[in-house]
Amino acid sequence: MRIDLHTHSTASDGTERPSELVASAAGAGLDVVALTDHDTTSGWAEALAAGERLGVRVVPGMEVSCLVHGVSVHLLSYWHDPADASLVGMLDASRTSRVTRAQRMVERMSADTGLRWEDVLAHVHGGATIGRPHIADALVAAGVVADRDEAFATLLSGRGPYFVPHTAPDPLEAIALVRAAGGVPVLAHPAASKRGSCVGDADVEAMVAVGLAGLEVDHRDHSDAERRHLRDLARSLGLLVTGSSDYHGTGKRNALGEHTTDPDVLREIEVRAGSGRADGVRGA
Ligand code: AMP
Ligand code: FE
Ligand code: FE
Ligand code: ZN
Repeated sequence: MRIDLHTHSTASDGTERPSELVASAAGAGLDVVALTDHDTTSGWAEALAAGERLGVRVVPGMEVSCLVHGVSVHLLSYWHDPADASLVGMLDASRTSRVTRAQRMVERMSADTGLRWEDVLAHVHGGATIGRPHIADALVAAGVVADRDEAFATLLSGRGPYFVPHTAPDPLEAIALVRAAGGVPVLAHPAASKRGSCVGDADVEAMVAVGLAGLEVDHRDHSDAERRHLRDLARSLGLLVTGSSDYHGTGKRNALGEHTTDPDVLREIEVRAGSGRADGVRGA
């Protein structure tokens, strides 16, 4: 069983439609793939239908952008109720803020790059969650940079002059809402230090107190030492350990199935799905 629990489609900043992504998963020899777009579940229906057609089990998921004392935190959620009103409200607020924030970044760099907002919109599929990768695609098309990597290393850097943050919930609030919606929350790439500052062990412990279920340990942005540390932390806090690719189609080097999750862990995630739901309905 080959299981990849973290991928992105054109519903956020991936480059393949949900159905194309599931076909790629089949081609990569995966048995199970989770679709975890940023702050949206709009790709679920297409991915689940493609999974049925192609014989790949699709796990419905999401990656929630969070922020705590200026540190960006990504929270994976599996099997939550996509219609849960509180969760939907939180995600709507994030996506709205992402649009204004991207517009402000484009305004800041327009004099230096000639980039206009329409140029960015041309790279966003209808209704998708907007992110810096879409600005990157517009910069590539305009010949300003060669690829998304170069864009992030230069104009889009979080430390650069054009950067504007978007509003995002505190991870403790997001975990509570995910649990109340029946989801299973797993902290994405908790130690990816090359992306920016990360949360500490005490923050993770506080997240466990409100229902965090696992840590994504095997991820290309973690060094061997970081993985060892996270594995020890997971053991001491009783957390599940996952591994995934964080595939974005051609938008990133990450290859489907480059890291995978143990079948026993997926089984445990599916057993827990629905258990936190206020209405008692189980998801799996
Ligand atoms: P944003 O959510 O708008 O702050 O943009 C961050 C997103 O950009 C992350 O979720 C990554 O998927 C993506 N990203 C970060 N660094 C890179 C990179 N070097 N190349 C391509 N995509 C990146
Ligand atoms: Fe992304
Ligand atoms: Fe992430
Ligand atoms: Zn991701």
